[in-house]
Amino acid sequence: MRRVQGDARIGVFTGGLPRGCSLCYTGAKIVVFATGLCRDSCYYCPVSRARMWSDQMYVDEEPAETLADILLEAYRIGASGASITGGDPLARPGRVLRIIRGLKAEFGDDFHIHLYTSGRLATRRMLEELYSAGLDEIRFHPTSPSMMEKVRIAVESTGMDVGVEVPAIPGREGDLVELARRLEEMGAEFLNLNEMEVSEANIEAVSRRGFRVSANGVAVEGSRETALRVVEWAAKNLERLRVHFCPAGFKDYVQTRNRLLRKARGIAHLYEEPSREGTLLRGEVLLKQASAQTYRLVGEGLLVPLGGRMYATHPEFLDEIVRLLPPGTIEEAAIAEYHPTLSRVLVSRRRVA
Ligand code: SF4
Repeated sequence: MRRVQGDARIGVFTGGLPRGCSLCYTGAKIVVFATGLCRDSCYYCPVSRARMWSDQMYVDEEPAETLADILLEAYRIGASGASITGGDPLARPGRVLRIIRGLKAEFGDDFHIHLYTSGRLATRRMLEELYSAGLDEIRFHPTSPSMMEKVRIAVESTGMDVGVEVPAIPGREGDLVELARRLEEMGAEFLNLNEMEVSEANIEAVSRRGFRVSANGVAVEGSRETALRVVEWAAKNLERLRVHFCPAGFKDYVQTRNRLLRKARGIAHLYEEPSREGTLLRGEVLLKQASAQTYRLVGEGLLVPLGGRMYATHPEFLDEIVRLLPPGTIEEAAIAEYHPTLSRVLVSRRRVA
């Protein structure tokens, strides 16, 4: 009998974590959304409507056009790896191969890359090419039993870590146990069981099938318990397959937050302070009109012109700036909080004067 480790809030596993997951825990991977194209249409697909079915690439929260956009984002967050996702990234195999080769050439062999795919479009040749390009780990989401053949081919003809990642659908415990048994027989490395997520993209379809939203508001009721029972079963009955339950909330609370913290630190201007939540705080001063005193403060670097009558300062200096400017010159002063994207999406604004 193997040990069951972890905790139901951040993840439970037996046999060790897949390598791609251990780097995600620290937010050290960029997420490359290679394309929104996909030949499947799973009712539980959590990909947002804005991204799904469009051939636009994204890296983390930023739209990306070229390999350079992806490399820059990896530098911004100090990434140690990448997760390539979609849609089905294999709908654009040439693009994916260029991304893998480019990341490995820039950051070296230790930069860990994993890729998700349904496997529908995977061929032996494509899998071998992905492996030679440097792909370290592949995660299949087989949407029909026949796609398990692709998993077998990847295990037999490449040296990648090969695993399967599926949602833990309540009531499908027997199928998941059977899947785990087959993966062990094939020599696959891992089975990841995601808590079945609820998002604006799938809530209607999920509810129509009679599933209820759990108390945390981000997952389907009963999915967590289903996954935990499969991990327990695998600990007792399997010898080597790593089986891992990934809670839906974990992505937001730990993985995304850690990645945003890295991004906030990487892109903060001198007048911005990264918060503990991974947002950026700045002082903003809207003037009625600029005065000689404003120009002096700008020259000293205390106020930075943002355009028009708006100026920024580090939140620590805001009270001091309000005190230094001549009475009647400020229309409004506030602490503003932004999501750490290049276009800075406003999260909140607290007026102080
Ligand atoms: S295979 Fe993946 S991306 Fe495609 S529809 Fe299913 S869940 Fe969504």
